[in-house]
Amino acid sequence: MLRDDAGSPPENYPESLIRDRSVETLHLRKKVPVAILGATGSVGQRLIQLLAHHPWFQIVALCASEKSQGKTYKEAVTWIQTTPLPEAIGLLPVLSCEPNFPYKIVFSGLSSSVAGDVETAFAKAGCVVISCAKNHRMDPDVPMLVPEVNIEHIDLVKEQKFPDGGMILTKPNCTVIGLALALKPLAVEFGIEALHVTTLNASSGAGFPGVPSLSLLDNLIPYIEDEEEKIETELSKVLGSYSHAIVQDYPLKISASCTRVPITEGHTEIVSVKLKRQATKEELIRIWREFSPPIQDLKLPMSPTHIIHYFDEKDLPQPKLQRDLERGMA
Ligand code: NAP
Repeated sequence: MLRDDAGSPPENYPESLIRDRSVETLHLRKKVPVAILGATGSVGQRLIQLLAHHPWFQIVALCASEKSQGKTYKEAVTWIQTTPLPEAIGLLPVLSCEPNFPYKIVFSGLSSSVAGDVETAFAKAGCVVISCAKNHRMDPDVPMLVPEVNIEHIDLVKEQKFPDGGMILTKPNCTVIGLALALKPLAVEFGIEALHVTTLNASSGAGFPGVPSLSLLDNLIPYIEDEEEKIETELSKVLGSYSHAIVQDYPLKISASCTRVPITEGHTEIVSVKLKRQATKEELIRIWREFSPPIQDLKLPMSPTHIIHYFDEKDLPQPKLQRDLERGMA
């Protein structure tokens, strides 16, 4: 039996987001039932890890490819997270990625080879799809959210024409998230003209099983398919301004160079920025340390206390030491 033991739902949570009240039979009255697409993959597993003990959400459906369907999740998955697979989750059956269940909120960690059409089908069936895949990120009516950076872009969903409240929301490429967070306060305070970023991407970003160990151990691979292009296009949209139902790209020149390194988790980025107005080192550090976007006021369950940490130590940050800072959310 799925349990409901972790606190209250958000106040004023719209009843309409639960399509079928029969979920009450699963004792889920207090939590919002959610499904995960691509649940067996690297991102799907991380979603399970983050949502399994979330106070507002209850995982009730797991979906993956034909090869996994019909098995229990425990049988289908190669669990690679450092926390144990929750027992109740392991017993859930793996379903097909078709919108034939009653749950309204769907997180997607689908392979980009299928995510586009499958996510659209769920939105057409009235689901709120929150996607980690690249397919819909650059659609003009789809927000690409880093909530601490551009929460106002969420209004773009009003332009989507799916029935029954269906909609698609995306998050950017993982290297863009950290970059946008560090740049946002600089863009507001000084303006940004140009930047160059070199990334040292962890192996987790390549999914599971990812890059063969003999290719990556004792090595560095100076190429990640599409990664440089994604940074160069997605960053301008994420930092862009929202008005009259349009996101206007932030006008800056971007040059990106991406490498894969033999680190399991935590991407490092080395960034040179040309600001529109000159800044002192003290100003930069103060602005980063004081950055407290409006969404912090909501005190959401996963929000970090400080979104940006500046280290005075000359040899920090390091992926192994800082990746779990504030539960990995800083
Ligand atoms: P992954 O480990 O390869 O997982 C892919 C998932 O998609 C698996 O659950 C797989 O199910 C499912 N799938 C594949 N083909 C399918 C089909 N025809 N029908 C239904 N399900 C299918 O990939 P990942 O690294 O988790 O990445 C998932 C998505 O997130 C990708 O779009 C990726 O670009 C994006 N992303 C990844 C990261 C990261 O850090 N890894 C970061 C940001 C964004 P089976 O196991 O049954 O095959």
